[in-house]
Amino acid sequence: PFDVLVVGGGPAGASAAIYSARKGIRTGVVAERFGGQVMDTMSIENFISVQETTGPRLAASLEEHVKQYNVDIMSEQRVKNIVEATDTEDGYAHIYLESGAILKSRSVIISTGARWREMNVPGEQEYRNKGVAYCPHCDGPLFKGKRTAVIGGGNSGIEAAIDLAGIVEHVTVLEFADTLRADQVLINKAESMPNIDIIKMAQTTEVVGDGTRVTGISYKDRNTDEIKHIELAGIFVQIGLVPNTEWLKESAVALTSRGEIEIGAHGNTNVNGIFAAGDVTTVPYKQIIIAMGEGAKASLGAFDYLIRTPAP
Ligand code: FAD
Repeated sequence: PFDVLVVGGGPAGASAAIYSARKGIRTGVVAERFGGQVMDTMSIENFISVQETTGPRLAASLEEHVKQYNVDIMSEQRVKNIVEATDTEDGYAHIYLESGAILKSRSVIISTGARWREMNVPGEQEYRNKGVAYCPHCDGPLFKGKRTAVIGGGNSGIEAAIDLAGIVEHVTVLEFADTLRADQVLINKAESMPNIDIIKMAQTTEVVGDGTRVTGISYKDRNTDEIKHIELAGIFVQIGLVPNTEWLKESAVALTSRGEIEIGAHGNTNVNGIFAAGDVTTVPYKQIIIAMGEGAKASLGAFDYLIRTPAP
C-alpha cells in the first residue's frame, strides 16, 4: 500500500507527488491524462519565472520532475470511487479504478481538476486556442487592441468583460437569458464602461473563422429568431467551470452544491486522511501556479496527518 496516493496528474497532482516523495514516503500518482488541462493550453505566459512556454512543454517538465523521484506513476487510469479508511477492514483507504484494480493508501490527495463548460456550437472545437478561449487571466493579453466577445452573463462572464475591457478594444457580452445573473455591483461597473456592450436573449449559434483564426460569431436573437453576426477576433466562453468530482458522488467526501470539494487551510477535506488540491476544490482562482501551491500544501497536510496517525 501507499502512504500517499495522488489522484490526478495535473499541476496540483504533480506538485503533491513531488512534495510527498521528498519526505521519503511511498507515493503513487494515478491519472487519466498526465498534465491535465495544461495539455490543452497553447501559450503560457503567467507561470512566474518562466516567461513563455507551451502547455505540452510544461506538462513534459512536470512529468520529468516527478520521475526524478521514487513515485509510482499510473497513467491512463480512471478512478471511479474511493472508500475511506474507517470503512475498510484493513484500515487503508481503497481507491477503485475503472480497470477493476483497487489501490490502497494511508492517505489520498484528490487533484482531478476541472473542465470548462463548452458552448457545443459549430466552430468551437476547430478554433479552440485560435480565438476561442476560456481563461481571461491567461489569454486576455493576446487580444490587445482587438474586438472580443464574452459568452455568459454570470459573475465570471461579467468579471471577464471588465477585465478584458482594460486590454482589448471592445467587448460584447452575449447572455442567453433575459437577465444577467452577475452581482449588481459588477453589472453596474460593466455598464459604466464605454467599450462593453451587453446583449441579452442571445443564443450563440456558430464560431466563424477563416480556416486559421476566429473572425466572428453568430447568434440568434431569441426575441425575433433573427440570426445576427458580429466581427471579432476573440471569444471568451464563461458559462461555467465544472469540477471533475462525478466519481465522488457515492463517497463520504463533502462537495459544495457546485460539486467542488470543500477544503480547509491544510488542504484537508471533511474525511480524515483525504486531502484535495487545485481546480477540483473550493480554492478561489483556478490557475497553474495556484494549483501547484495547493498541491504542495495538501501534501504537507497529508504528511502532518501521517506522522500523527498510527499505521494500520
Ligand atoms: P487539471 O489540470 O485539470 O488536472 C486534472 C488531472 O486529473 C488530470 O491528470 C486528469 O486526467 C486527472 N483526472 C480527472 N478525473 C480523473 C479520474 N476520475 N481518475 C483519474 N484521473 C482523473 N492557467 C494558467 O495559470 N495559465 C494559463 O495560461 C492557462 N491557460 C489555460 C488554457 C486552457 C485552454 C485551459 C483549459 C486552462 C488554462 N489554465 C491556465 C488553467 C490551468 O490549466 C488549471 O488551473 C490547472 O491545470 C489546474 O490544475 P489541476 O492539477 O488542479 O487540474
